[in-house]
Amino acid sequence: RVKERGRGSYDFYRPQMSVNLLSRIKMEHAMRLALSLGQMQAHYQPQVDCASGRIIGMEALLRWNEPQLGAVSPATFIPLAEDCGYIVTLGAWVMEQAVQEAVYWHSHGRPLTVSVNVSALELRQAGFVDRVARLLAEYRLPPQGLELELTESVLLQDAQDMAQLLTALGRLGVRLSIDDFGTGYSSLAYLKKLPIHRLKIDKSFVDGLPDQEHDAAIVQAIISMGRALRIQVVAEGVETQLQRQALQDMGCDFYQGYLCAPALPAPGLRVLLEEQNRDEEKEVSASATRP
Ligand code: C2E
Ligand code: MG
Ligand code: MG
Ligand code: MG
Repeated sequence: RVKERGRGSYDFYRPQMSVNLLSRIKMEHAMRLALSLGQMQAHYQPQVDCASGRIIGMEALLRWNEPQLGAVSPATFIPLAEDCGYIVTLGAWVMEQAVQEAVYWHSHGRPLTVSVNVSALELRQAGFVDRVARLLAEYRLPPQGLELELTESVLLQDAQDMAQLLTALGRLGVRLSIDDFGTGYSSLAYLKKLPIHRLKIDKSFVDGLPDQEHDAAIVQAIISMGRALRIQVVAEGVETQLQRQALQDMGCDFYQGYLCAPALPAPGLRVLLEEQNRDEEKEVSASATRP
């Protein structure tokens, strides 16, 4: 082993660095093959009406099962995909899967909205809006059936261009939501300028419900602001009945969380929805025969 110095050379005396670099390169390589090897899957997490428990939508979340590594967390591979640009390919794939799943439900009497996470790099790709429009047309999904989840950091990027882009998406009729709301750095001014349909309260605030006063105050403030601006509010990461009840009491419309279900493969979610359909039919026929 030689210790090399100088421009463009690696320092072999820092094994940790080269291991990290190597695993990063390997990981990127494996990730670029994963789609064609069928190792990527879109899972779907239901979004639920806080009061009635009715499923009103679902969020598509990418899953990667690598035979040697097992399940690789999106927290690991999404940032990697964003860094190397591969997120554009991944994102397009997830969106098409999600649109197909939404079409399935629209044609089975449940016009659910399917949400897809969109990274800054994807949004900034030339022709993104046209691509979304073509996808909707190809599958004949009404635009309200698709929701794009953006983070606050995305909104901060070259504000003028971003405003035009989001306005164009809004005109198309797709819905826009702000993910992880309250954790980013951004001004609230965009809420009155942009066609934002929903705020998703970050899990870190929901975790403290119902006991942590500061978390409760922040959650209440977001809900009140949403109501005043006529923007729907979804709470993320709801795990307990106490949290759900607290949210309902505070006037929150919807939640997402393990309390209802984690992200499931499409067939799992179909089972859940069919159960709900049957229960609702039973209720309808029971009330119809009631004297
Ligand atoms: P996110 O969009 O904020 O998604 C919510 C995350 O919270 C998901 O993690 C979900 O599994 C998790 N979660 C939901 N309910 C609960 C709960 O009750 N308890 C706990 N402990 N966790 C809950 P996941 O699937 O690991 O995804 C992490 C992040 O990776 C996502 O955060 C999103 O930012 C990103 N991501 C996932 N799929 C995609 C994708 O297709 N495209 C892009 N650009 N990003 C994605
Ligand atoms: Mg999300
Ligand atoms: Mg989130
Ligand atoms: Mg997130």
